[in-house]
Amino acid sequence: MTARTTTVADVPVDTRHWIGGRRIASAETFTTVSPVTGAPLAEISRGTAADADAAVAAARDAFPGWAATDRAERARLLHAVADGVEERIDALAAVETLDNGALLRSHRRGVMPRVAHNFRFFADWLIGLGHDDFDTRGHTNHISWDPAGPCALITPWNAPLMLATWKVAPALAAGNTVVLKPAEWSPLTASLLADITAAAGLPPGVLNVLQGYGAEAGHALVSHPGVRRISFTGSVPTARRITAAAAEHLTPVSLELGGKSPLLVFADADLDLAADLAVEQYDNAGQVCLAATRLLVEEGVAEEFTRRLTERIGRLRQGDPRDGATDIGPNIHPRQLERIDGFVRRAVATGARVLAGGGPHTGLGGLHYRPTLLTDVAQDSEIVQEEVFGPVLTLQTFTGEDEAVRLADDTRFGLAATLVTGDPERAARVSSRLVAGTVWVNCFFVRDLRAPFGGSRASGVGREGGTWSFDFYCDLKNTVTAPKGWHDHG
Ligand code: NAD
Repeated sequence: MTARTTTVADVPVDTRHWIGGRRIASAETFTTVSPVTGAPLAEISRGTAADADAAVAAARDAFPGWAATDRAERARLLHAVADGVEERIDALAAVETLDNGALLRSHRRGVMPRVAHNFRFFADWLIGLGHDDFDTRGHTNHISWDPAGPCALITPWNAPLMLATWKVAPALAAGNTVVLKPAEWSPLTASLLADITAAAGLPPGVLNVLQGYGAEAGHALVSHPGVRRISFTGSVPTARRITAAAAEHLTPVSLELGGKSPLLVFADADLDLAADLAVEQYDNAGQVCLAATRLLVEEGVAEEFTRRLTERIGRLRQGDPRDGATDIGPNIHPRQLERIDGFVRRAVATGARVLAGGGPHTGLGGLHYRPTLLTDVAQDSEIVQEEVFGPVLTLQTFTGEDEAVRLADDTRFGLAATLVTGDPERAARVSSRLVAGTVWVNCFFVRDLRAPFGGSRASGVGREGGTWSFDFYCDLKNTVTAPKGWHDHG
């Protein structure tokens, strides 16, 4: 018999699945280890294909009732979930920090309040959705967003609850039921979310949480014929496997994938702002899909920009993410640390010059990697083309807008781009030429749920946010009604 709950940061966390409003254990478990302390945190149920079946069956059974629940009641319940998240912000933040190593203060002040906001936003958007009937020669066109059915939601470890609720909230608001499969490296807050939804009064089976490995529980879930939508955030290789599995049943897929985003600094930029924005790219130890990891700097200001940036890098404090003075915590897993170091070592071996960092921070005794800045890197090199997902930035120079755009757009990705310039006309010209789902001008990471979010090229398929989320999670229907008496004339 395996343990059913564990205590993490004084918070009891159930380690089993949440299926049909009940806790269900698998015969086998896997161990999660904290990147902060190096100690095991929990023995989590290792979901099987049978568990995935049970979760989809629970979601399917709950679907008709939830889909028929009127919008105002669905919205009320989602606001109650948001209330529950807000009441438990400290607990959620403490557990998430021990589970994935991101800063406690950002979890408390930024991430968890946004988790609550995700529920409030989509609850409110639902109320305003679709009041735009129109007329065709006297016939009324009425567009409705009909819920599609059970949705499989597969999420990564770098911002576990934030990214999970970007999907859970709109899917539920739209009237679907969901099976959430959180990442095996950070599974704990999904379990707490299940508790919160139950306390808020969400009916059994509306939200299900399936724990386990991607190749097992995840694969079984996305291959399931009962799943009507798959929304995935994670890496490109996994996206390929999921898309192949989805092809069998033609299940629609939304993909939010990796990036290799550029930060363009023009000679007319405020260089302090540019250096501030560049140093932000080390946040969450570089494990941010949107991170602008390629610094492209106009020739004439490159030296001064580099001076200001390396000075800021030198001030970053690495350490325990629970300590309010820490800027950069550990990376998530020994495998991730090795992967990051492999990229840096191969880059240096092929001619890259280290301007800052360049290896693990062994003095801290954990999974810390020094914030690293590399230059003398070729455009076609691995370090410029591939996502590292760690605190590693490259610096290249350019001359003029054409070269800036050419370098910026020359990877297989297209998630985001940031540009720093004092010239609004240049900003408009350059941003219109960049291939990216989001372009930030003189800012970074400003994210409004009303806007579409997603990536171009290998960074993703589809957009979520506002009505785009409802478009994905629903079967759109147009009902065309003839005017009264129209038939009489026939
Ligand atoms: P990953 O692809 O390894 O895993 C993501 C999830 O997929 C996990 O839950 C995993 O268990 C599951 N999975 C793995 N194999 C599966 C399979 N065959 N079938 C079904 N599910 C499977 O990604 P990761 O390492 O957890 O996350 C990092 C990646 O996510 C980076 O590439 C990052 O850029 C990307 N990311 C993208 C965004 C975005 O919004 N675009 C946001 C955050 C992270």
